[in-house]
Amino acid sequence: MTVVRHLSTDQGTTRKTLWRLFDGTLVESVLMRYPDRVTMCISSQAGCGMNCPFCATGQAGLDRNLSTAEIVHQIVDGMRALRDGEVPGGPARLSNIVFMGMGEPLANYKRVIGAIRALTDPEPDGLGLSQRGITVSTVGLVPAIHRLADEGLKCRLAISLHAPDDELRDTLVPVNTRWKVREVLDAGFEYTAKSGRRLSIEYALIRDINDQAWRGDRLGRLLKGKPVHVNLIPLNPTPGSKWTASRPEDEKAFVEAIAAHGVPVTVRDTRGQEIDGACGQLAATER
Ligand code: SF4
Repeated sequence: MTVVRHLSTDQGTTRKTLWRLFDGTLVESVLMRYPDRVTMCISSQAGCGMNCPFCATGQAGLDRNLSTAEIVHQIVDGMRALRDGEVPGGPARLSNIVFMGMGEPLANYKRVIGAIRALTDPEPDGLGLSQRGITVSTVGLVPAIHRLADEGLKCRLAISLHAPDDELRDTLVPVNTRWKVREVLDAGFEYTAKSGRRLSIEYALIRDINDQAWRGDRLGRLLKGKPVHVNLIPLNPTPGSKWTASRPEDEKAFVEAIAAHGVPVTVRDTRGQEIDGACGQLAATER
């Protein structure tokens, strides 16, 4: 695979790479350096078949699954760039990997698990990275979550929930018509019980769509007393889309409604908006 281009922002500490695979397929990865850690967001598929209407990748459909090697190579390239001091701040080590780029990781199950093993097996067979530093994100493919729970991994699982009620989630995350909010959360809780890791709940806040305080309250009720952390993500608007980020006052009320149930909640720092940082936007403009 070859680099089509690197795009940097945040004084060079956020670096996005657009890759061309051997057959011309395009995928993206992003490296984000923070004062205390370096996170890479990688792709597991070229495109995505889950069809979420607010997502640039979802609009273009699925091209194909990435191979284990194509997944691992995104990381190896980032590790090399860090080691060689290409990212401002001096040489550094990679601390976190999130499967939150293009694709639904659990729809490419075998190759994703193969990549996790290759990344975390001890050297020299693997790269010796920590499983605890890896987050696998899913829209909620329930049978695959059950299977993942039996792998004996210590990775974190993140569920892209985006709505606490089936009526809205059916439209925002179409796979919800197959597996409902309750089933997805129960599968996630099973994973946390087996892995000992807290469940991440990802929730893209979309203005006037899913950001009402009553939905925050409903989410808080669903998660109360569970080993979870809610990550609210101000939506990265896709060019030409009606979907956009919430108003600050609505975001604040939403956070408070969740926190009122004692559920830990944070609003994610959004990086890379100037470089089409939302997954799939860069590949979409290249097409
Ligand atoms: S939000 Fe994630 S699962 Fe949904 S279409 Fe986009 S990449 Fe796929």
